[in-house]
Amino acid sequence: MRLLVIEDDKRLSGQLKEALESAGYAVDQAFDGEEGHFLGDTEPYDAIVLDLGLPKQDGVSVLKQWRKGGRTAPVLILTARDAWSEKVAGFDAGADDYLAKPFHMPELLARLRALIRRSAGQASALLSCGPLSFDTSAGTCELNGKDVTLTAHEARILAYLLHHKGKIVSRTELTEHVYAQDFDRDSNTIEVFIGRLRKKLGEGMIHTHRGQGYRMAEPDA
Ligand code: CA
Repeated sequence: MRLLVIEDDKRLSGQLKEALESAGYAVDQAFDGEEGHFLGDTEPYDAIVLDLGLPKQDGVSVLKQWRKGGRTAPVLILTARDAWSEKVAGFDAGADDYLAKPFHMPELLARLRALIRRSAGQASALLSCGPLSFDTSAGTCELNGKDVTLTAHEARILAYLLHHKGKIVSRTELTEHVYAQDFDRDSNTIEVFIGRLRKKLGEGMIHTHRGQGYRMAEPDA
């Protein structure tokens, strides 16, 4: 899962990046509204954290432009405390959730998890596929009730496939959703990670569709 953080307060942005990365996300940062709008318009994020008070272009107008252009990524806005009119403007512009500053990081993480799974059509925080279960809040994975240890990249790929269970996900799509923008992407590494996941999870969980991509499905599907 890949996120965009648009926040001009460098310190807060750094804290967000750190917390989100340790929660397993790939994170891109933008520090003003123009840059943020551009990234959200051109890169496929699984969720966006958007501060409303931004230099160059304010958050509400950034969000309005995205929605007008058909960009549907879930957006959580950060508002000033007690500024109820900001929240109203944000929701009217197409925000999916909000947090007032200052906020507690665990609450932000929980709200983002909920946004991401709702946008993928998943109601539960526990994603499963046959003998496999993945707890998105704890970031833990079990196969037949036994813990499976995954690296950050493996977990990100597995989470994306599980959020889109039953659908064919192309290598390009996976690449775009598991690496941050500044990461040195080599599409071959996706194959390496898939190979490692198969070793850990057993064959038959991640199906290869030649020339199209990968599909996570129940072992008998
Ligand atoms: Ca700000």
